[in-house]
Formats: sequence, C-alpha cells, structure tokens
Amino acid sequence: MQIDILTLFPEMFSGVFNQSILQKAAEKKAVQYNVVNFREFADNKHSSVDDYPYGGGAGMVLMAQPIFDGVNTLKEKAKSKDPRVILLCPQGQRYDQKKAEELAQEEHLIFICGHYEGYDERIRQHVVTDEISIGDYVLTGGELGAMVVVDSVVRLLPEVLGNQESHMKDSFSTGLLEHPHYTRPADFRGLKVPDILMSGNHKLIEEWRNKEALRRTLQRRPDLFDKIELTPEQEKWLAEIKKEYK
Ligand code: SAM
Repeated sequence: MQIDILTLFPEMFSGVFNQSILQKAAEKKAVQYNVVNFREFADNKHSSVDDYPYGGGAGMVLMAQPIFDGVNTLKEKAKSKDPRVILLCPQGQRYDQKKAEELAQEEHLIFICGHYEGYDERIRQHVVTDEISIGDYVLTGGELGAMVVVDSVVRLLPEVLGNQESHMKDSFSTGLLEHPHYTRPADFRGLKVPDILMSGNHKLIEEWRNKEALRRTLQRRPDLFDKIELTPEQEKWLAEIKKEYK
C-alpha cells in the first residue's frame, strides 16, 4: 500500500511512522509512507497556502491550488488511477473499524491534513473521495487524525501483525468488544485469574471468552448490538447474562 500525507507539519509523523508496528510494516514492504509538505506546491511568490475567507469572518482558509496540484502530482508519481483521497475534518463521516477494513483493501491512500479555519469548499467537491472525522471534537490540525487512520489501517494489512489472526478478534472486528485478558501470575496479591482460563479445556475457554465479550459489550456499548446479528448460541448466552443482572 502506498500512503501519501499532505501536511504543513511533516515532522509530526516521523515519531509515529518510525516506531513499532508501523515501522515494521514499512520494513516488510507492506506499506510505503511518503509525507509531503504541501507548501511546496504553492505557485505564488511567498508560498502561501491560506488566505482570508470570502465574506469576511475569523480565521484563514486553505487555498484550493496547492491541494489540487499536490494531489495530482502524487497520483502521477504513483501511477495510480483511483486512489482514495481522504480529507480529515470534524464534519466528515465518523471513523470506525468498518471504515478501517474498507480502506485496508486499497492500494493507494492520500491524506489531506488541514489547519486553520477550514478548506476551500472546492477541495471537498473536486479532489476528495472520503471525508473522515475521528470524533466529535475539534483538533488543531488533521495530522493526529491521519495518524489514527493510518495506524488502524496498516495493522490490518496481510503479514503486518505477527499472528495473522490477532486482529480478527479485536474489539469491533467481531462487532462486539473483546473479552478480558489475563497473564501471569495466576495469583497477583490475592487477585486471582478465573479458573477456567487455566483449565486447559479449549472449548470451555472459548465459550467463556465469547460470553465475556457479550457481557462487556452489554455493559459498555449496548448500542453495538443494534448493528450485528447474533448467532442463536450468542442470543442464548446474552439472555443468561441479562438474567444475572435482574
Ligand atoms: N472550522 C472547522 C470546523 O468547524 O469544522 C474546524 C477546523 S480545525 C481547527 C482544523 C483542522 O483540524 C481541520 O481542517 C481538520 O483537518 C482537523 N480536524 C479537527 N478536528 C478533527 C476531527 N475531529 N477529525 C479529523 N480532523 C479534524
């Protein structure tokens, strides 16, 4: 996967892209990162990328020209016909695991990180394929949002995680929150690990994990049940769990 980032603050990405799984993914050639300062595409004397809003008002607006030309240059360089061009913005579609899975199928992603008050509307209308918000709050710029999206997409690429199955049971991948985990020691200052996890009975352990995933989802994110269809077995377990709380 080719990942291009258009930003005014390229240095922000070096820490994140040069550590841990994201760095290993690049070493394994599962992904290639290209972080570009879009000021270099500005075609005016002072390399300005923003200007006052028509109609007046507070704040500066990112101009269309550097972004239009930056995206075109990146498309030509990668020889990719239809990359996803993602605008980070608080008004975009709320980001979730389903969107991460969708983006992980692509070969080329271009991220546009805004700053200032906003973007010239023609960028949204003519350059962008996806507008993504990482939550209902306002950040200073799109860089942190782009990092969040890149991290969540890259870990889904084949061969990136050590254990190929490990992301499949993550929270949201199954539609539910994940079950609790424990590691050694079995007794930590009197706090014990559930016996079942040390029983060696894989069928019962799997069943416990499935039930605990349902319990956790019921307690913390019951809204998730509206988006998935449970198996008859899960329905039965969920009914049992609900009874425990009556
Ligand atoms: N005036 C804009 C509005 O009300 O929608 C907010 C602009 S914000 C100060 C500057 C930039 O930060 C945005 O253009 C966007 O790139 C980024 N940003 C802010 N909040 C974000 C969020 N929740 N998700 C993704 N990007 C965000």
